[in-house]
Amino acid sequence: MIKSWLERFIDEILKDNKERYTVSGGMAVSGPIHIGKLRGEVIYPSIITRYLRNQGKEVRHIVIIYTQDPLKAKEPLVTKQFIEKWKGVRIINVEDPEGCHNNWVEHFYEKYEQSYEEFGITAEPIMTHEIYEKNERMKEAIKIFLTKRKEAREILNKYKGEKLAENWFPLKPLCKNCYNILTTKVISWEGEDVEYECNKCGYVGKSKINEGKLEWRAEWVALWYTFEVDVELYGKDHAAAGGSRDSCNELYEKLFNKMPPKGFAYEWISLVKDGKREPMGSSEGVSFDIDEWLRVGKPQALKYWYIVMKAKTHLDFDPSRTIPLIHEEYDKAERIYFNLEEPFAKDLKHDIIFSYIAANDFNPPKKIGLQIPYSLMAILVQILPKENKLEEMIRKLRRMKIINDGIDYEEERKLASYIEKVTYWVNKYAPANIKIKVQYEVPENIIKELMDNEVKMLKDVYNVIKNWEGEINKLETEIYNTIKANNIKPNQGFAILYKIILGKENGPRFVSLVQALEKDTILNILSKVFK
Ligand SMILES: [Zn+2]
Ligand SMILES: [Zn+2]
Repeated sequence: MIKSWLERFIDEILKDNKERYTVSGGMAVSGPIHIGKLRGEVIYPSIITRYLRNQGKEVRHIVIIYTQDPLKAKEPLVTKQFIEKWKGVRIINVEDPEGCHNNWVEHFYEKYEQSYEEFGITAEPIMTHEIYEKNERMKEAIKIFLTKRKEAREILNKYKGEKLAENWFPLKPLCKNCYNILTTKVISWEGEDVEYECNKCGYVGKSKINEGKLEWRAEWVALWYTFEVDVELYGKDHAAAGGSRDSCNELYEKLFNKMPPKGFAYEWISLVKDGKREPMGSSEGVSFDIDEWLRVGKPQALKYWYIVMKAKTHLDFDPSRTIPLIHEEYDKAERIYFNLEEPFAKDLKHDIIFSYIAANDFNPPKKIGLQIPYSLMAILVQILPKENKLEEMIRKLRRMKIINDGIDYEEERKLASYIEKVTYWVNKYAPANIKIKVQYEVPENIIKELMDNEVKMLKDVYNVIKNWEGEINKLETEIYNTIKANNIKPNQGFAILYKIILGKENGPRFVSLVQALEKDTILNILSKVFK
């Protein structure tokens, strides 16, 4: 058995054989928290944390919220006027652009924290403005940077294209006059005080060393020191050889005499929308938000996707396609875990099972739950009556033999939530072919236009469906062959079938439509053609 990539990484951590570990991640709150950010900064670290805890280790898992950062938002996330007004101000002091929360951080971060529990996230959030203000170890780290600033400068200059000046200070004080934290410059430093000048408003004044913000790489290292971080992953932008992670590692080793945290780089996720493909990014507002995921699907399915696809894979996320796909892959993993199915490639079995268990926070269900493919559900929710949806759905699933035994309260609750989520997806993201309206009466003009061989084909398909015993793939092959046997091209044949049932030339996978509408309904519609 070859261990999963994530297990192998955790084995490396365990080699240090410590009793206590700190796992860290970071969140820049430059805009909405999208699912891509969740991947490397909290989901993988939460899984690592749980795994280590299961090995008997004591683990502190933190997520650093960069509230001491200046505003970096761009249009169209906020207006030009907003940017002009707030640029350079710490986001903890920036107003909520929509006016519904106390400030920027609450608007773009705190509301997402409510989603954390559903994702099984183990992190304790820590805000940088509070660390600067209160943490003595952070103050110590700032002093180390100020004392060893020449050495820090030499190290950073080895990596940076643009060299830092001779009189460089790794600290930007917060301007007491205009609240800017970007535009200040240290003039002198003594003990815990610095004198600074603000380029924006011209103010010259004094501040405490912990009332500012370290240069971002210095800050990253200072946070490792403050929390004695053992594990931290990083986005691919920091990963290149000679990139920022390497420079931070060297700063930590040389200035602090410490071993840098273990970690790996994780890839971005692109949002595919209206034919365009853009990497998700908060400050530009290219985002599929984490709470939006909870409106369309199961958190376990997204976690499974992230684990099984590995950190180094760039992922494309097209809400109209990827959401059903991820859920169906997750269902398949569940069947493999419960030994009801074998994977396509045998050597993937362990990887799939590990990813499934990890996606369930190492506490997978005792028995397999109700499985209804997402794309089938997308049809079902559209043909159910508006009233008593859940009861009607259960009745339908019994007739479809998807529910064979009783259904307990827990399953019923899950089913209700699934109906709600898939309905939301259909209304907001489903592609046109998935949206359907069944015509129980076939319009006369459609019947009149049919050629003789097409009517014959429909009769044959009618008989195939009539004799069908419930195996989906078999039905698909038989319908396909029946269409061809009547000298009609398969896509043309399916177009005719869709036209009769849905009044348009495309639709969801045809056999799923048959399954959802059920045999009698389909036969009844088809029979209208040759009555
Ligand atoms: Zn708000
Ligand atoms: Zn100022």
